[in-house]
Amino acid sequence: MRHSITRSEELFKEAQQVIPGGVNSPVRAFKAVGGTPRFIARAQGAYLWDADGNQLLDYIGSWGPMILGHNHPAVVAAIQQALSEGLSYGAPTEREIRLAQRVREAYPSADLVRFVSSGTEATMSALRLARGYTGRDRIVKFRGNYHGHADSLLVQAGSGLLTGGTPSSAGVPQAFAELTLVADYNEPQALEDLFQRYGEEIAAVIFEPVVGNAGVLIPTPTFLEALHHLTRRYGALLIADEVMTGFRLAKGGAVELFGLKPDLICWGKILGGGLPVGAYGGRAEIMQQVAPLGPVYQAGTLSGNPLSMAAGLATLETLFQDPPYERLEAYGAALEQGLQTLFAEAGLPVAINRVGSMITVFFREGPVQTYTEAVASDTERFKAFFHGLLQRGVYWPPSQFEAAFFSTAHGPEELDKTLEAVAQALKEPAAF
Ligand code: PMP
Repeated sequence: MRHSITRSEELFKEAQQVIPGGVNSPVRAFKAVGGTPRFIARAQGAYLWDADGNQLLDYIGSWGPMILGHNHPAVVAAIQQALSEGLSYGAPTEREIRLAQRVREAYPSADLVRFVSSGTEATMSALRLARGYTGRDRIVKFRGNYHGHADSLLVQAGSGLLTGGTPSSAGVPQAFAELTLVADYNEPQALEDLFQRYGEEIAAVIFEPVVGNAGVLIPTPTFLEALHHLTRRYGALLIADEVMTGFRLAKGGAVELFGLKPDLICWGKILGGGLPVGAYGGRAEIMQQVAPLGPVYQAGTLSGNPLSMAAGLATLETLFQDPPYERLEAYGAALEQGLQTLFAEAGLPVAINRVGSMITVFFREGPVQTYTEAVASDTERFKAFFHGLLQRGVYWPPSQFEAAFFSTAHGPEELDKTLEAVAQALKEPAAF
């Protein structure tokens, strides 16, 4: 039953000679779970194949973009068409307009949208804009939320920083970090305290409307209310980081699902359909502060890249033509229910948080609503779970503190395979 992973082992050794840690993004290194990361050779639909030819049922989906599954024919065809027309011009193109129009169709509050090349660039630029627009310097973020790796945002961050046990990064000047105030997610009183103290200096509050980067945390209605109320009252902007949730939880993401009213919104992942894209947008009055219209500078050699625009357009058009959100919800509900039953039968306490096609199994009793509750999970048990699944061909995210994603390519067969793998893994009492 054990997968042979000789080729991945060889490649990982070789990679470490030329790339820090052998990877180009930290969580890929399996630091939290140990063992050798699988080097991926190809992907199709809900599956990946590693360098040794092992087939893996994918619950990472490139960390979010692949909501249509891998190699969706409409996306591949759109990229091929764009490819035949040239790779990059550094001049405006029609596809940029069409994609911006699609974003606005899903998010009517975003009058203007600016494309960049990653989620990091989107949040970094949105913060600069918020500071430029308000003339204030401080920002507020939440412990365990991750918004990419811009300096101001690597303070008490989630995702790979949580996994590596380093909630903040070396190399971020103290002077920057001091301008980043940190509050606790789903704890409205803490946010109110911060505003009472620093209210007039706060340019913006940035948040994940459903957290994926501490594992899945679901916002409480009182928390969402406090976010809106306090930012309005003190004249700060509210920035919804929909890089993970945008176009995933609904056509209009978490903004639509929860009826949010942010001033600025950031996107990435699905917006690029698997190629590098980010974007930020909002009311015209704010977005008009961005260069060339206004004094807030932001630019990019490859921004609006034709291939990325084509992949994003094909992805959004496919999603909008035949919205898959009910099907994803049905798959998610069945997966969640199946997991609840299996863990209950095994007598293993877990808290399963899920919104649509984002899910985390926390290895502790529930409920898990806050960062503090999330990090008190039993990460040793998570490791056993992760490796138990991987050996059975199910590729779950290699950290307790990440969301698992599934796609429209996941169907009844994939559901059965997943639950069967979990059932088998749970039969290894030594592991748990
Ligand atoms: N915001 C959120 C909510 C994210 O999950 C991520 C990446 N996982 C980012 C921003 C950064 O995006 P990127 O990795 O494309 O820079």
